[in-house]
Amino acid sequence: MEKIRTRYAPSPTGKMHVGNLRSALYEFLIAKHAGGDFMLRIEDTDQERFVDGAIEIIYRTMAKAGLIHDEGPDKDGGYGPYVQSERMKTGIYMKYAKELIDKGEAYYCFCDRERLASLKTEVVEGKEISVYDKHCLGLSREEVQANLDAGKPFVIRQNIPNEGTTTFHDELYGDITVENSELDDMILIKSDGFPTYNFANVVDDHTMNITHVVRGNEYLSSSPKYVRLYDAFGWQVPVYIHLPLITDENHKKLAKRSGHASFEDLLERGFVTEAIINYIALLGWSPEDNREIFTLQELIENFDYRRISKSPAVFDIVKLRWMNGEYIKSMDFDVFYEMAEPYLQETLPGGLDLKKIAAMVKTRIEVFPDIAEMVDFFGELPEYDVTMYAHKKMKTDIASSLEVLKDVLPILEAQEDYSNDALYQALSAYVEQKGCKNGYVMWPVRTAVSGKQMTPAGATEIMEILGKEESLRRIRKGIELLQNV
Ligand code: GLU
Repeated sequence: MEKIRTRYAPSPTGKMHVGNLRSALYEFLIAKHAGGDFMLRIEDTDQERFVDGAIEIIYRTMAKAGLIHDEGPDKDGGYGPYVQSERMKTGIYMKYAKELIDKGEAYYCFCDRERLASLKTEVVEGKEISVYDKHCLGLSREEVQANLDAGKPFVIRQNIPNEGTTTFHDELYGDITVENSELDDMILIKSDGFPTYNFANVVDDHTMNITHVVRGNEYLSSSPKYVRLYDAFGWQVPVYIHLPLITDENHKKLAKRSGHASFEDLLERGFVTEAIINYIALLGWSPEDNREIFTLQELIENFDYRRISKSPAVFDIVKLRWMNGEYIKSMDFDVFYEMAEPYLQETLPGGLDLKKIAAMVKTRIEVFPDIAEMVDFFGELPEYDVTMYAHKKMKTDIASSLEVLKDVLPILEAQEDYSNDALYQALSAYVEQKGCKNGYVMWPVRTAVSGKQMTPAGATEIMEILGKEESLRRIRKGIELLQNV
């Protein structure tokens, strides 16, 4: 059996979007699942769209995501160069373009801008598309040679017949047949000598022995033209897998403004790499059972590209947040602390036991920025509404809370050991003596020391962090507020 070889072929045009990362991930998984090779190829033929620093983002993202390539610009596997602008210098694209010209499958075109602009408005089957009218196909050999000798700028176009149909196969979409008259004579070699993506992807995928091509379905409509090129050369067409669109919650194409369209945006918003990768794997693919949590290794073991769906995948940020929370829960504490510390430091003054606070929030947050709102009260008692003391289930009201706080104040003043356990014992003794439920005492105490309805820990754990002085100050403040009702 032939060795499975896949490639991720990004154009260095900016950030790495969720869709790009999904293509890279699926290519990686297909190769690794089958024990094959995963290759990185940089597609920089469109020099106008080139963005400085974009290649670094690609390397950084892939390394961080664990999508380690076996071959690429930095790892020669015998199929290099792996950057299209460098491949161009070897003359490979021109060589194959000329082969097509010799076969009658391509031709030189010398039409200038004005002439091409006048073609742009042609309407075919009610649709406005730019279809080249094959004007230069009619040039004689001598005319072509004379133009070339005169140094006239040219492009090389694919020659597609006006009659007949072309069929190609996609793993998800099945056989797709199009009328040749709908296919334009696309440019293979541009006037600057660079190949177009349309030509380079075919030449490169073939010469680099790529067996499976995964890409966004925006390439679906061009694929018949690529298949015609493969056929013209007599090359085997790779397995095509065109992935469904990724939409936002409103079923619109996931856009930059959503703020979570790229990998780096997501990291910035406090998501962890493993959760992002896990989530992206499920954007169009699902395993047989409904399992959702996968490490990269588990994805490699379970990934079957035949189970990719062709219906649009909705990027559900709520779901990703949930998944991220699951990853944070199962994270090793030291790793978690290292990531949480900057958020804690930003929110809290010095002198607090950040490790203890981190342990409180670890199972409660979904993304790291959630930390701030959850712990800010440790730094400063917020202004709060006294009605919070009244809690139906705890059977507390303003009067009962005032009584409890007044009772526990001297107990807490006398208490020397401000560890959670000791404080809990002290308050439990009071509960017992009073013959009430725990919550009847703990609710008002927790409200007083936190000023919040929801806290990541109970009253005594909070007081342990605050220490005696601050805890007492807050209890007294509570008494004062309740007295003024
Ligand atoms: N360079 C193309 C892109 O970034 C790659 C498409 C493909 O994988 O063939 O969209």
